[in-house]
Amino acid sequence: MFLSLASRFVANIEALNAVESIGNVTKHRRAPVVIFDEKDNRYTIKYVPAISGESIGHAYQANVVEFAKAIYGGSPPVCKWCARGEFLKEMRMEYTIEEAKKVINEKNLSDEDKKHEFEKAVIRNCLVEDIGGFLSAEEFPVKRTSAFQVGYLVPTRDSISATVIDTQFHVRHAPVIAGGETGEETQEGRKTKKEENQEGRKKVAAQMLYYVEVASALYGIHFNLDIDAIGKTRLVKVEEAVNSEDKKKRILAAIGGLALTVLGQFGAKKSRFNPISEIKSLTISLCDNFMFSVTPPHDTKYLISTMERAKSFSNLLKSAGVDSEISIYAYDVEKSEKVEGVKYFNTPEGLFETVMKQLKEKGYV
Ligand SMILES: [Zn+2]
Repeated sequence: MFLSLASRFVANIEALNAVESIGNVTKHRRAPVVIFDEKDNRYTIKYVPAISGESIGHAYQANVVEFAKAIYGGSPPVCKWCARGEFLKEMRMEYTIEEAKKVINEKNLSDEDKKHEFEKAVIRNCLVEDIGGFLSAEEFPVKRTSAFQVGYLVPTRDSISATVIDTQFHVRHAPVIAGGETGEETQEGRKTKKEENQEGRKKVAAQMLYYVEVASALYGIHFNLDIDAIGKTRLVKVEEAVNSEDKKKRILAAIGGLALTVLGQFGAKKSRFNPISEIKSLTISLCDNFMFSVTPPHDTKYLISTMERAKSFSNLLKSAGVDSEISIYAYDVEKSEKVEGVKYFNTPEGLFETVMKQLKEKGYV
C-alpha cells in the first residue's frame, strides 16, 4: 500500500524556517523556483520563502514518536536518541543501538548476513529508523532508505505573486537596569572595553533592537509514504523484522504522525511567531502495490489532475493484466469544482480518520 498526500495551506506571518542570523537580523529560508512569466512569455527564476524538507522530515519523525507513545502506552520501540528527537540514526558507533553493535562482532556471520541482521536489529529497536531510514557510515556501512519522501514547502505556483517576505522590527525594553553594567565594579576602577567584554561587563542598553524576517504565503506540501516498506528489511533481502501486531502499530504511528504534521505541528519559532494558518485543501491517495503519487498542489486543479491520472494509471495496469485499486480522499474549501470518484470530507481530521479505517479494513493497522 502506498500513501500519497498533497495539501495547500495559507500561513500568514510565519518564521517556520530561519536559516541564519546576520547581526541582529534572523533571516527566513529562501529557495529558487522556475516559473513561467506570462508578461515576458518566458521562464524565469524567482526566490521565494521556503520551509526545507529536512525541517518537515524532522517534525514528521518527532510526531511519529509522539503518536507512537499514545499507541504503545508510553513506551514505544524507539532508541533513546530518537525518543528525544535527536535523529542520529547509527551515524557513529557511539550512537549505534546495542543489539546492532553485537551483530558486527558476530564471528559466524558473513558480511552480507551481518548487514542484514544489523538492519533487522535497528528496525526492531527503533520505529523511527524503521520508517525514516538510517545510515551507519563508519567502519561497517549499512543503509536503510526512508519509507517516506517529502520535499521543500514553497508557495504554490498560482499564488506566487501573492507571496511576501518582510522584516519585522522588535525591541527588548529594559528601562530600570538601563545604563548599569552587568559586572561588579572593581577597586582598580573602570577597565578598557576589551577587558570589560572579556569579563562579561557590558553596559546595559535601555533598548535592544532585533529584526525577524517573516513570510506570508499559500504553501503546498507533497508527501509520500510507502506503507509496505514498514517493519521489514530490504537491504540484503526482504524479511519481516517485527511481529504483525507490532507492525500494525507502527503503520498507525506513521499515519498518526503524518496527521499531526499536516495539521500544523512543524516548524520553528512558534512561541512568538505562531503562523496564522488555515488548510485550504488536502488530498490523500491510497494505492495497492504501486507507487502512485498525487499531483503536486500547485494550482486548484491538482485534484482533477490526480483523479484523471489515477484512472489512466489503473487502465495502464489493467492493460497489463494487473488489478490495482486507487482510492482518493479530499478536503477542499477553495470552492474548486467537485471531482467525480473522490470521497469528500468536512474536516482534514475526518479525512485522516477514514484513511485509518480504510487501512484497518484492509488489515494494515
Ligand atoms: Zn533511533
